[in-house]
Amino acid sequence: MRLTSKIYTSIALASVFVAGAAAQRGRAGAPPAPTAPTPPGPPRVEALKKEAAEAVEAMRTETQQMVDQVFSFGELGFQEVETSKYLAGILEKNGFKIERSYAGIPTAWFATWGSGKPVIAIGSDIDDIPQASQKPGVAYHDPIIEGAPGHGEGHNSGVPLNITAALAVKKIMEREHLPGTLKLWPGVAEELVGAKAYFIRAGLFRDVDVSLFAHVGANLGTGWGAGFGTGLVSVEYSFKGESAHAAAQPWRGRSALDAVELMDVGWNFRREHLRLSQRSHYVITNGGDQPNVVPPNASVWYYFRETDYDHIKELREIGDRMARAASMMTDTTVTSRILGSAWPQHMNKTVAETMYANIVTIGLPTWDAADVALAKGIQRELKQPEVGLATRVGPLRGGIDPEQNMGGPSDDIGDVSWNVPTVTLSYPANIPNLPGHNWANAIAMATPIAHKGVTAGAKVQAMTIIDMLMRPELVDAAWDYFRNVQTKSQKYIPFISDKDQPAIDLNAKIVERYRDEMKKYYFDPVKYKTYLDQLGIKYPTVRQ
Ligand SMILES: [Zn+2]
Repeated sequence: MRLTSKIYTSIALASVFVAGAAAQRGRAGAPPAPTAPTPPGPPRVEALKKEAAEAVEAMRTETQQMVDQVFSFGELGFQEVETSKYLAGILEKNGFKIERSYAGIPTAWFATWGSGKPVIAIGSDIDDIPQASQKPGVAYHDPIIEGAPGHGEGHNSGVPLNITAALAVKKIMEREHLPGTLKLWPGVAEELVGAKAYFIRAGLFRDVDVSLFAHVGANLGTGWGAGFGTGLVSVEYSFKGESAHAAAQPWRGRSALDAVELMDVGWNFRREHLRLSQRSHYVITNGGDQPNVVPPNASVWYYFRETDYDHIKELREIGDRMARAASMMTDTTVTSRILGSAWPQHMNKTVAETMYANIVTIGLPTWDAADVALAKGIQRELKQPEVGLATRVGPLRGGIDPEQNMGGPSDDIGDVSWNVPTVTLSYPANIPNLPGHNWANAIAMATPIAHKGVTAGAKVQAMTIIDMLMRPELVDAAWDYFRNVQTKSQKYIPFISDKDQPAIDLNAKIVERYRDEMKKYYFDPVKYKTYLDQLGIKYPTVRQ
């Protein structure tokens, strides 16, 4: 009996706790709402969706070639010269109108086809990771070129997915005389969260009705609402002092490097008194030239991440104050430059529920023994649980309590999500339990795992485009959620000012250093069926 009453007490306490959490939610945002996949549309719509998925299936070879080609270019943010030329070129050949060098960014472009409403924006990132060069299909660290950049995030796969989906849908639109405009665009310099706020400022999304984004993952999935993760402002602080002979007359010097170090020490003490949800990190981009010269110039580059706009702004203000304080301590001067920014993401309920219905229809690819052996090989190598590849589609995520968001990564698709109803499709082109931003995340990205995952994702994307083109009530419902729930009490305020300019000089020197060597390894689809064939890699290559 005592036990029973104890249970009752704990249930009562639990409900008090839940009530408290609900009250907090009321303050922080919309309460969770029930979520379910959108029911099927009229038979004609469902028949055309099925046809679109079949058209994607028939393009497997073209999709594989695009994935492999972009993998082999391996370009860093703002330097995606070959990648952009190649991808925009394919769309141009297929009748899309291309606008190049968009928003003052040489590697940015967008491609449009069709006419009238609705306008569907379809985007995905294209840049890669420093020092992540890696042979695909090999389950241990084995770079193609030591020190070179590589697709250690998998951004080589998203635009190929979108192009495949768009070409499948275009054929159907032409035959059926469907009104609507497809607008494809690349996430330039996503790893620097460097471009999307500028795309918005330049008006890329002004005429857009629905925005479909795709990002590589280890499963097929989507979600809506605030979800987990952060937004950020990325700022470089540059200190200016006075050089002097560091041994003969050090008292005449004013060290800019001292200012950088004092700022970093200050920040690391302050870290203890910041919210648990924050993430902040820095690299010293200029620490001086040589020890016997008091450094007259030094720079440090910070990422300030938090879970909502106000807290991101506050974190950056603390950073600005600390930089000024460090300059006062050292009698140096300081200037700052914004290098990137991202709003926390908030995805659209209606569009996510519609996409999820298509995810359930398509399901995961069929992995073969070689795919699973590669996945388990790298999981074993990194001392992670050997779970292999995803075998079950996850649930539709949505309505997560913002108070429960303990932070995480950012993506500047967040900015887009606050300008137009947006969702991100996660597709299973990579392996679970990898560290991210690492050579290991490149292993799967030019293998059958990526090829199959992209084909599955392209089917979902194509079907969702058709839903949005042919079911105007879904577009209306998406905007109703966007206007009356998501942005009811929170409006988009860009982190960039009218004067800020995209940091297009970033990564130029690194790419210049490796470009010639990397060119030797560009994929040649005329000579080879796959990039694995070209590199002579046995699939999978696993440590014995
Ligand atoms: Zn990414």
